[in-house]
Amino acid sequence: MGKINVTVWDETIGPLGPYPNGIYQAIADFLEESKEFGTVRTSTQPQAEHGLSVEVLADTDVLIWWGHCHHNDVDDEIVERVRKRVMEGMGLIVLHSGHASKIFSKLMGTDTLGLRWREADELERVWKIESNHPITIGIPDYFDIPKSEMYGEHFCIPAPDELLFISWHQGGEVFRSGCTFKRGKGKIFYFAPGHETFPIYYMPEVQQVIINAAKWAAPLPMEPVITGHTPESPEAMRLCGQ
Ligand code: ZN
Repeated sequence: MGKINVTVWDETIGPLGPYPNGIYQAIADFLEESKEFGTVRTSTQPQAEHGLSVEVLADTDVLIWWGHCHHNDVDDEIVERVRKRVMEGMGLIVLHSGHASKIFSKLMGTDTLGLRWREADELERVWKIESNHPITIGIPDYFDIPKSEMYGEHFCIPAPDELLFISWHQGGEVFRSGCTFKRGKGKIFYFAPGHETFPIYYMPEVQQVIINAAKWAAPLPMEPVITGHTPESPEAMRLCGQ
């Protein structure tokens, strides 16, 4: 398999909280530094076609999505374009407040992806609950985010295919903070940490999870899929020596 091309998408351009060049650039920087990937691009909502032209998506193996305040301003046509690419096999990593994005909602098949939340500068303890998984490799049993936004249950997602992380918050809430899903040929990972006022994307554990997830979500080489009316059974064909 060739190098994995990653596109990091963000709804804003420019500095945000502790990220002088934006969250998208902070994420692109550590992906680049890992030397695990091919092209690492950034695309943002204010760009033409939200930076997600047919050409960009065709050259994207894994799309990372960070959005918060402007979900409803994302063009439905672009959302559908992204959805189709996921069905074809493009990986999608949805971060933090991307839980409420149109693309995540569409792929999850739900009208609302609500959750409990509180901006409270509280400790978040992220527990790894699945070992020997490509996304959790190298991650300790748990790690602490000293100041985080509380995301708590209930989280209105369909039951995930795999639950990899559960977060405990200082206020006592828990949250399914790392979940995988498959839609069509595409692999999807939701990862909750990453509120824009805290330097969470600089944390080595968080970076490692996202790097691991981008490698995991990359499409595998496509094999033909046989469907439809099958006039000859494989066994009949074998008996005729075909
Ligand atoms: Zn937030």
